[in-house]
Amino acid sequence: MSFLETDHLMKFFDRFCALDHASLHVEKGSVYGLVGPNGAGKSTIIKHLTGVYKPDDGTVTLDGEPVYENPAAKARMMYIPDNLYYFQQASTRDMMKFYQGIYPNFSTERYEKLKDIFSNIKEKQNIRRLSKGMQKQVAFWLAVCTNPDVLILDEPIDGLDPVMRKQVWNILLDDVAMRGTTVLISSHNLRELEDVCDHVGIMHKGKVLMEHSLSDLQGNISKIQIVFEHDLPEFSEQLPILHTTSVGRIHTLIMQCSAKTAEEMLSEYHPLLMDPLPLTLEEIFIYELGGNDYAVKELFLD
Ligand code: ADP
Ligand code: MG
Repeated sequence: MSFLETDHLMKFFDRFCALDHASLHVEKGSVYGLVGPNGAGKSTIIKHLTGVYKPDDGTVTLDGEPVYENPAAKARMMYIPDNLYYFQQASTRDMMKFYQGIYPNFSTERYEKLKDIFSNIKEKQNIRRLSKGMQKQVAFWLAVCTNPDVLILDEPIDGLDPVMRKQVWNILLDDVAMRGTTVLISSHNLRELEDVCDHVGIMHKGKVLMEHSLSDLQGNISKIQIVFEHDLPEFSEQLPILHTTSVGRIHTLIMQCSAKTAEEMLSEYHPLLMDPLPLTLEEIFIYELGGNDYAVKELFLD
């Protein structure tokens, strides 16, 4: 059983089926990217993971324990919803005091340290007067100070500028490295999560279509640039070539094997030059998981 999981989770809004046998598995200490187009059911599954919603059917468990109406499980998690809510009149400092009162592991020291990073936010200013992006920063700042076992972020970087995104990612990854925090982040765009996740789950129409460890995917697919003296040779059917593009005499092959295996196999054709190139997450998904699938394609729209 995974650390945090849903098993055949069902949710209906009236007769509309928002979650349709959704099964999701998050391992302890991983950074899990939950990706899917708008309306896929990401926020709905997150509200089940965090115990906001009661499952219509199926289960939601943290460390083997059901989450719904389980204060002990909920206390281990911190959740930043997509639509933030702040008290009227409250400043960041007020919220800090409030969090200090309700979260037993709240670290005031961490809060003070992070002031430098969030220096664009005046602590005593009313949060509701801050921009949407700044409000997200406040939510994130306070959330990491609660030192949760599980941090769940629903579309956290919407509205953040690239510099702030990078800083937020750094704080997050530091936490994962130092404390073994388990992180689940949702996004409608796979590219946004490229540099941070080690696992990716893809949702579409209320289902979790696929879940993958990125290192598994990366180890099983490679991109090789290759030059031959003459034309591209007739490769054996045995070679796991998924795709070829050519610009003049430079050919780029996508192969379903490790780069090392690809180079070994291709060296038998005596190329003049051969170089493995890094693959983007987008390429991995498109080639390995079937780029003709509309659900997968949609994830790369900006
Ligand atoms: P995502 O976060 O992936 O964009 P959501 O989980 O917010 O998607 O929504 C999934 C589907 O469920 C959408 O079609 C949405 O309209 C519907 N939905 C979500 N919340 C409600 C609700 N409270 N009442 C009725 N329909 C809802
Ligand atoms: Mg959502």
